[in-house]
Amino acid sequence: MIAIQTKLPRVDTTIFTVMSKLAAEHGAINLSQGFPDFSCDPELIAYVTEAMKNGHNQYAPMAGTEELRSMIASKNETLYGVNYDPESEITVTAGGTQAIFTAIAATISVGDEVIIFEPAYDCYSPAIKLLGGLVKPFGLSPPDYEIDWNMVKKLFSANTKMIILNSPQNPTGRIMKENDIQELIKLTKDTDILILSDEVYEHIIYDGEKHLSVSKYAELRERSFVVASFGKMLHATGWKLGYCLAPAYLMKEFRKVHQFNVFSVNTPMQIGIAKYLSVPARYTELGAFFQQKRDLFRALLSETKFKLLPCNGSYFQCVTYEEVADLSDNDMALRLVEDYGVASIPVSAFYNRNTDHHVLRFCFAKKQETLEKAVERLTKL
Ligand code: PMP
Ligand code: GLN
Repeated sequence: MIAIQTKLPRVDTTIFTVMSKLAAEHGAINLSQGFPDFSCDPELIAYVTEAMKNGHNQYAPMAGTEELRSMIASKNETLYGVNYDPESEITVTAGGTQAIFTAIAATISVGDEVIIFEPAYDCYSPAIKLLGGLVKPFGLSPPDYEIDWNMVKKLFSANTKMIILNSPQNPTGRIMKENDIQELIKLTKDTDILILSDEVYEHIIYDGEKHLSVSKYAELRERSFVVASFGKMLHATGWKLGYCLAPAYLMKEFRKVHQFNVFSVNTPMQIGIAKYLSVPARYTELGAFFQQKRDLFRALLSETKFKLLPCNGSYFQCVTYEEVADLSDNDMALRLVEDYGVASIPVSAFYNRNTDHHVLRFCFAKKQETLEKAVERLTKL
């Protein structure tokens, strides 16, 4: 063995891989890793197949196919009234994950500080650390995970380079509200702080709320990378396609990394997706589609001993379990998968510092029968 110095000494296999593996080993219903157990639209598959049959099987342009970038531009204009230039401000990526990594790699250097809101999706911190950046976590607490912006301000220093936002938030389902946006505008005004806004659940938002994309706000747009994922939009997480929006001066740096990281991504899928999403209802109705599942899952869970936390967006439902057991969330998740046949995610996995509020996350992007069967098992607790 050659001695190498690990770049990520405290990083182990992701909780999603760990829990999905345990689910498979125990034959459990997998409500841990976030992915649908139903298939995507056969019409989408037909469009992608058609593109392959028509010979679109070589490298796509580095930034993405023209058709897809135009579709993304018109989607953003319709939804948020903002015009991103497909030529210089939109890049198609290998999922949201690559867009996030690339934005961080393009802008974060040794010693730069990046503020994240925890519980935070787990790919942010390792990317920052790999680049020599310092993670400045701001801890949020159940039940509402509200952000106290006066306290956030205290994390600011001369080295603050970036703030990472995620709305709707994984795992909490929290959404940014107008006052959050206004506070953020005030805090970043007259600074050189960049924003990385992870909006992969932009369409999965409930109860008539509107997604507040940072791209809608000129003061934020000029300093922001916005990340989206077709995996969420199309019920096709395995396709690993997404995109990044940013003003041209930031996108220029993003593409310097992107072109040597992946160069370009899957051609026939880009062509198929562009054609499929030319019908806006295919993304604008996602919220209503998942709201039915959220409402069903919450109604079913209300018959158990779990306590439901709010869920305003995303396809995750968090619960607390103090009436059930006095266990750490890791032990509780283990008990559920081993003894009750239901896999979940312990939310402490989304914090840098040991923080266990005894919260579990369930993914409800599942068929009705899967949700019913899972809750039937949870009722036995
Ligand atoms: N951000 C968040 C908040 C996510 O939940 C996910 C994964 N589902 C991603 C980014 C990554 O998206 P993708 O699967 O397209 O890489
Ligand atoms: N985003 C998915 C989740 O939160 C998992 C993606 C992954 O496994 N990397 O569950």
